[in-house]
Amino acid sequence: MSLVIVGSVAFDTIETPWERKEKIVGGSCTYCSLAASYFTRPKIVAVVGEDFPKDTISFLKKRNIDLRGLKIVPGGKTFHWQGRYGYDPNQRETVRTDLNVFENFRPEIPASYKKADIIFLANIDPDIQENIFLQVEKPKLVAMDTIGLWISSKPTTLLRVLKSVDIFFVNDEEIRILTNERNLIRAGKKILGMGPSLVILKKGEHGALVFGPDLLFGILAHPCEDVIDPTGAGDSFAGGFLGYLDKVRSFSKKEIRRAAVFGSVMASFTIEDFGIDRFKTLKPGEIQSRFEHFKKLISF
Ligand code: AMP
Repeated sequence: MSLVIVGSVAFDTIETPWERKEKIVGGSCTYCSLAASYFTRPKIVAVVGEDFPKDTISFLKKRNIDLRGLKIVPGGKTFHWQGRYGYDPNQRETVRTDLNVFENFRPEIPASYKKADIIFLANIDPDIQENIFLQVEKPKLVAMDTIGLWISSKPTTLLRVLKSVDIFFVNDEEIRILTNERNLIRAGKKILGMGPSLVILKKGEHGALVFGPDLLFGILAHPCEDVIDPTGAGDSFAGGFLGYLDKVRSFSKKEIRRAAVFGSVMASFTIEDFGIDRFKTLKPGEIQSRFEHFKKLISF
């Protein structure tokens, strides 16, 4: 099978109560594709400026990520996002968003991507997400993510995209705003009535809930003592989840549950270092042993 990921490749400025990192590499597509690359060969669609570091491009290639859909705009500046975390890592504030090359980006799906089985519309402008639908040929599964910015600024397009997807990745704060419902179970059920057949409700350090019409599965977040930088946890979850499904070529309930565990495992690695740094040393054996550890954690 094959997995296409559309999203941001970015510079992030991250502030935590302990440290600040200026313009490090991030982006929803970057995190997601790196996490997925441990399971399959993801194909990405994104845009960067000429200022984007060549060594990161080499690193993505080394991870066997297909970059034919990555556009480099001559003279352009890469998308920049700045976020601030409080003592509670689940609480994040967006300080600044500079769209830069994203402002005029209309993605072109390379011919070699068009027959992809799984499409992931990572956090990006809903207009761009919608544009992707026009270009792909009957994927088996389409998943999407979003953030508060798009829920408030482009609700109409966002709801249209939501209507056409199979899986919606969303966090607790976003789902409450989107559904106007405080209770997360009711909110999840409401989303099931809005298009998707599966909702993956991410709750940061408290794990995630998987909702389907006849499925409810809860998954812990790995108990991590040193959360260095929570950025990218959601995208890494999606990358692990979808990368695993692409590898096993099945969307059965059993594999959905296992995919959610792999999603949580990949997120748990990402937050152990700033930006994408943890992926520079992460070995497949570490993923497998953390997966086994999860089994022990939840068996009774
Ligand atoms: P996550 O922590 O998984 O929610 O994702 C964080 C990533 O999302 C960061 O690396 C940012 O570069 C990226 N991001 C933040 N805001 C936006 C936005 N408006 N559009 C696209 N990507 C964004």
